[in-house]
Amino acid sequence: MNDKTEDSKPKGRRFKLDPSLEVYKGIWVFVEQERGQAHPVSWELLGEGRKLADRLEVPLGAVVVGADEAMLAPICSDAIGYGADLVYLSTGEVLADYRNETYTKALTALVNEHKPEILLLGATTLGRDLAGSVATTLGTGLTADCTELDIDPDNRSLMATRPTFGGSLLCTIQTLNYRPQMATVRPRVMAMPEAQPERSGEVVRSSFALEEASVLSKVLDFIPDEAREGAQLPYAEIIVAGGLGMGKPENFQLLFDLAAVIGAEVGATRPVVQAGWVEADRQVGQTGKTVRPRLYIAAGISGAIQHRVGMEGSDVIIAINTDPKAPIFDFATYGIVADAVQLIPALTEAFRQRLAVARAAS
Ligand SMILES: Cc1cc2nc3c(=O)[nH]c(=O)nc-3n(C[C@H](O)[C@H](O)[C@H](O)COP(=O)(O)OP(=O)(O)OC[C@H]3O[C@@H](n4cnc5c(N)ncnc54)[C@H](O)[C@@H]3O)c2cc1C
Repeated sequence: MNDKTEDSKPKGRRFKLDPSLEVYKGIWVFVEQERGQAHPVSWELLGEGRKLADRLEVPLGAVVVGADEAMLAPICSDAIGYGADLVYLSTGEVLADYRNETYTKALTALVNEHKPEILLLGATTLGRDLAGSVATTLGTGLTADCTELDIDPDNRSLMATRPTFGGSLLCTIQTLNYRPQMATVRPRVMAMPEAQPERSGEVVRSSFALEEASVLSKVLDFIPDEAREGAQLPYAEIIVAGGLGMGKPENFQLLFDLAAVIGAEVGATRPVVQAGWVEADRQVGQTGKTVRPRLYIAAGISGAIQHRVGMEGSDVIIAINTDPKAPIFDFATYGIVADAVQLIPALTEAFRQRLAVARAAS
């Protein structure tokens, strides 16, 4: 082979798909469910998976795993409504609660039977745990916590992009010669698709049998996470976020007061979290949460790129900053040049009155 481009590639690696792996076809999304509640990231991934599947002209499959078929039936039909052509439903008694061991076995069995070329999971606590063990069991490549997915037009492989080195680099990773190509994707990075209840698809059932006695991990009890019931930052409709411009930790209470009046969640920039003004799970940005609320109020936030990438998908951004040259004004929908510490209480009061009138009228 005198092909120049082949020569210029690192030796000892194969860049062409082994012909034996060509049977792997189609894109799969693992639908994360706990006690019959599907995680919205699964639908976001089906929306993205639909686009990738259409580009590759392959079917889109959703994988639903659990114990009780009746409980899972609405999830299967939702998956079709959100874009799946096929739902691979694997049921078995040992799959009642999530356990890494049983779910890894059930998912790898499905993959080995049906051979998808791409397998996507949400980068949630459950998804990250499961993806790692499934990838190592199958002996394939996994890119965790991706923020972008694309298809390489040259070889139809998945291009999975993720921030690395604490968000200072973005790298695009391809799994060229192993199948399936696996990736986990952060919640809220992909847009939520429109549900189409009239769509039709097929449910492919399989049963998963494993002796409970042979499973090492046991679920003794289920204690629901109390914080889970509250609005989670990535899925909040309104977010009031503060940066260093709020001046001092006590001033963050002004943001919590406004949030309480308008039904919002409170977010923050990284330096605010690092200074210990608010808890780490409120950080928005490249190394924090990605959010897509209908309204994002940014108070005393400069709009650094690492913050911007986590919130620029918001429908409306209102920026409050004393510096008219702050970068946030370049992409805010509405900008207010003002001292946030003075303006926020005034806004809270104005909203309180307006909303009281609106409530009285309705
Ligand atoms: C690898 C890496 C990853 C990072 N990841 C993240 C991340 O996930 N999220 C994140 O947020 N950052 C992240 N950062 C940090 C980011 O680069 C910025 O430093 C950070 O977003 C700035 O936060 P800030 O806007 O609160 O502070 P500053 O940049 O200091 O801005 C404060 C702003 O408040 C304004 N201001 C001052 N007083 C007032 C007042 N009284 N009223 C109104 N406005 C006022 C100022 O004009 C200024 O614009 C990361 C950085 C690196 C290197």
